[in-house]
Amino acid sequence: MPRYEFRCRTCDDTFEVSRPMAESSAPADCPAGHADTVKLLSAVAVGGTSSAPAPAM
Ligand SMILES: [Zn+2]
Repeated sequence: MPRYEFRCRTCDDTFEVSRPMAESSAPADCPAGHADTVKLLSAVAVGGTSSAPAPAM
């Protein structure tokens, strides 16, 4: 299951959430219970642009 990184704008903390891709854009509450969060793009490591060649072992 992909992990998404969020940042809380209330306490300025970052946290990760594991959720299905279908719910990737759903809001997430921060661990401290704040709802004012924004999703970061850096932690998304799944499909979309899967045309890159596999690394040679
Ligand atoms: Zn917070």
